[in-house]
Amino acid sequence: MPAAPTIREALDAARQATDRIEARMLLREVLRQPDAYLLAHDDAPLTAAQARQYAGLVARRAAGEPVAYITGRREFHGREFRVTPAVLIPRPETELLVELALRRLPAGAAQRVLDLGAGSGCIGVTIAAERPQARVTLVDASAEALDVARANAARWAPANTALRHGDWYSPVVGECYDLIVANPPYVADGDAHLAQGDLRFEPRAALVSGADGLDAIRRIVSAAQRHLSPSGWLLLEHGYDQAGACADLLRAAGFTGLLAECDLAGIVRVSGGRRPGASGG
Ligand code: GLN
Repeated sequence: MPAAPTIREALDAARQATDRIEARMLLREVLRQPDAYLLAHDDAPLTAAQARQYAGLVARRAAGEPVAYITGRREFHGREFRVTPAVLIPRPETELLVELALRRLPAGAAQRVLDLGAGSGCIGVTIAAERPQARVTLVDASAEALDVARANAARWAPANTALRHGDWYSPVVGECYDLIVANPPYVADGDAHLAQGDLRFEPRAALVSGADGLDAIRRIVSAAQRHLSPSGWLLLEHGYDQAGACADLLRAAGFTGLLAECDLAGIVRVSGGRRPGASGG
């Protein structure tokens, strides 16, 4: 790269380390300008300091660090979320879980929602922002993760979110919700994917859950009825091969109206069920 490369030259040079979209995301961080600026001014030179800073970010990406951790942000369901290495990076497939939750929350109804293992808060905060009448409680066992969720809640849904520190249901003993959502850890210990890509940098506790990856899901499902109001829903994201096991667990725990929804790749990604209604038994 020349000493004072233009925007175009800097982006071209970065292509050896990463793809075009990520090269742009990193340059936007350095220049603090939107994409439109990069496109309209691609012959503008960077300062020497900007070129140095950009080369530093590109080198971090080349070493494998996820872009979202380098920039500290990731878009999810149309909103920008703060992200640190204390939380899982929000993924597009998790938007399916949010969509399914929103379909079960009529606008204007004062429903109570629980997001277990909230991480960045992208699920619970999005639901709270889209349904201002709902009250959303976000739980996480990691204090560092909860700090990130708190910042995101303060930005997008300060009026109707509450944050609780603790393991699964332990901070909500005795409380009942109309909808429980979770994207728990569900990767099996020793899964080869853990040594690949972004997963290498993400918190183990947010990814891994026992020998078959189902430990957290078992805990969430087995105690869910105690925390659901009659006809309340439990919705869970899970691994590509866990739909059958999740359906078995839900049925065994007394859930009805079982649901299994596919992501854009056609893989069942979200399963759930309903607590039997008060009169139906
Ligand atoms: N969907 C993630 C992955 O396999 C895992 C997230 C999780 O365990 N909740 O990349």
